[in-house]
Amino acid sequence: MVQSKSDNTADLEKQIKKLQSQRDTLLKELDGVEERFEKTDRLYKKYFPLIIDTFATGGTSFSKSCKDLSVALKKGASPGKIEYIFEQLKNAMLKEDIGPVPIKKKKGLFSSFVKDTTTNFVDDFKHQYHEVVNTLRSTLDDKYKTKLNNISKRIINAADTTDISELRESIFQLIFAYISDTNVDREKVNKFIREIMGKILEIESKFSDSFEQTDSVFEINQGFESVLDTEMGGIKESTNVAASLDDLKVQISQRLTSIENALQKKKAKDDAIKKIAKQNRNNFQSGFAKLKQELDEATQYSEELEKKLNLDQLTGAFNRRAYDKKIDDEMTRFTRYGSMFSLLLLDADKFKRINDTYGHAVGDRCLQEIIKRSIPLLRKNDMLARYGGEEFVVIMPETDADGARKAAEKIRKTIEKIEFLYKKETVRVTVSIGVTQAQKGDKNHQEIFERADIAVYKAKENGRNQVLVYDGS
Ligand code: GH3
Ligand code: MG
Ligand code: MG
Repeated sequence: MVQSKSDNTADLEKQIKKLQSQRDTLLKELDGVEERFEKTDRLYKKYFPLIIDTFATGGTSFSKSCKDLSVALKKGASPGKIEYIFEQLKNAMLKEDIGPVPIKKKKGLFSSFVKDTTTNFVDDFKHQYHEVVNTLRSTLDDKYKTKLNNISKRIINAADTTDISELRESIFQLIFAYISDTNVDREKVNKFIREIMGKILEIESKFSDSFEQTDSVFEINQGFESVLDTEMGGIKESTNVAASLDDLKVQISQRLTSIENALQKKKAKDDAIKKIAKQNRNNFQSGFAKLKQELDEATQYSEELEKKLNLDQLTGAFNRRAYDKKIDDEMTRFTRYGSMFSLLLLDADKFKRINDTYGHAVGDRCLQEIIKRSIPLLRKNDMLARYGGEEFVVIMPETDADGARKAAEKIRKTIEKIEFLYKKETVRVTVSIGVTQAQKGDKNHQEIFERADIAVYKAKENGRNQVLVYDGS
């Protein structure tokens, strides 16, 4: 069939119309794409510099690249230039040495990735442990000087938490050595150790706090990353709409990929740091707990040793060593502040005979019983000590001769009543007690003791089993 001319024209007109409408649709679509591209571009320029500026703190190569990127995006630099800066940024991120910092030192959201602040974190501990070493220096004798110098040097050179752990161990070792080697008064040693431990515990609790603060820095970072993720998702959506403009898509997706990679690397590094920080914390804390337990045991041992050193083995009363110290203190208080005190000297009567008749073991039991019965009759501040053999002294602070005489009388009467059984016999023991008080003109405690001794002698002369007060006249 042959088509007529008018048919052909109508066909052509129809095709032209179809093409025209296709062109109109394409133009409309292009308009839409351009509009979206502009929108995406605006989003870029608005948000990315804002986000990137928050990274750019400090003088590191990472923050310099951030600043360059921010300027380039604001200016609308060419994709080639922007890609180049992204590469720089990527390298800087890989190069930076990253570490956690306490939150109070945080300047910007990502300042935990600036090395200077990490150094401060360790520095804090170095300073505080240095102070502990100074305290040790002021108390420990020259024997420990070399060790302390060595620790000081190591503190100065310490770079991370592992170094601090090792230093802490050395300090503890030194304290252990001091506890077991020293000849200084146990009481003073224990007081000093408690002080030092207080300081170390304070440092350690600060350290735990800063670990927790580091954790919250990570949490903030993670929150920030999720915001960034959302922003990127929005931009990605806009980009997908512009799919028909291939080069636009390529440009945008290239930028997004770079940022995504950078973020992924940052996240991986975050996780790694967090893991190391956690490990450090665990090692540090369990190491500390172990050392502290050992030191507690050593201190306890030292305290027990102190007690033993001051106690008489047979009777459990204080010994001559403890007496010497206490009487010295009382004498100082008396001469300085006029604080009155009295001294009792108690001597078992005819004790040689008890030993000879019933044996030494019975004698020993008598001495134990004398102490056991006397202690409850005394005040908390009084000190009953075995002076030697079957002689005991009682120091009575804030007590005059009359008060001391009454107390002595109570003791004498109580002991008089005790009966020991030896086979079928009952054994009795009595005591003679000399009493004197500190008085004006006493130059030393020996003078006071001599008066008490004379008082005992007089009591014996008078027939024993009695209390006698003597003031030297
Ligand atoms: P006086 O009344 O004059 O004090 O007579 P005394 O026998 O108690 O005096 P003396 O000083 O001559 O003897 C003290 C005795 O005390 C001699 C010693 O055997 C005894 N004695 C000293 N220490 C102990 C001890 O630890 N255990 C026993 N069982 N006896 C002791
Ligand atoms: Mg005697
Ligand atoms: Mg005696």
